[in-house]
Amino acid sequence: MLFGRLLKACLISMLCVGLFTPFVFVQASTYPLQTKYPDIMIYKANTKQKVIALTFDDGPDRRFTPQVLDVLNKHRVKATFFLLGTRVHEYPDVAKRIHNEGHVLGNHTYWHPQLTNSSVNNMLWEIEKNEKEIKSATNFETKLFRAPYGALNDNLVKELGELGYLGVGWSIDTEDWKSLSSKEIKQNILNNVHPGAIILMHSAGHWTQDLSGTAKALDEIIPYLKKQGYEFLTIPEIFKYNMHAPEEMK
Ligand code: ZN
Repeated sequence: MLFGRLLKACLISMLCVGLFTPFVFVQASTYPLQTKYPDIMIYKANTKQKVIALTFDDGPDRRFTPQVLDVLNKHRVKATFFLLGTRVHEYPDVAKRIHNEGHVLGNHTYWHPQLTNSSVNNMLWEIEKNEKEIKSATNFETKLFRAPYGALNDNLVKELGELGYLGVGWSIDTEDWKSLSSKEIKQNILNNVHPGAIILMHSAGHWTQDLSGTAKALDEIIPYLKKQGYEFLTIPEIFKYNMHAPEEMK
């Protein structure tokens, strides 16, 4: 009887350890790659200041990127654009416009592959190929990188560090790529907004994707958040607010 009880208690405690260990781990490090590589990765700035960064992936294009730029200009906000090499090749003038209007450019690979499915060398090729496109279109060299789908692992992050890149994730996903309405996009931001947030949006996509909700949502969300005391920064600017930022960047 006693043995039975002991066995039961033992089983329960094993089960609890099994259940709670991963839970505690997830709680302690919401962004494990940022925790592990604070000089190489950022998903949000660890700050209490009301600073926020808008980021736009997959551009440039002629359909939605100009709309997004017009709204950002209207509200005098600077953002960060993670450009796709194939599209920079196709629309170098739009890439140049983004740069000329004072926004920050980042590298989002050439072909948009899931990098965790291939070798470190493949990531190198993707980065370098896009680096050349961005340089030739804008004469600007970026050291910011965002992986397609945010898919990275230890080896890839270490390589980014070797290359001197800062890997950029996000803490708020607007899911605008699902062709959401401006109302839904706004809600996705407002439900999750926090100091130091990095917001993921898109300024271009597949021809079947309607991103008109993105520009419309921005036009409303920017003045609203400004009224709440938020300041919009680029990724290099918000990185300086991150308590883990290297001293020379502060
Ligand atoms: Zn993308």
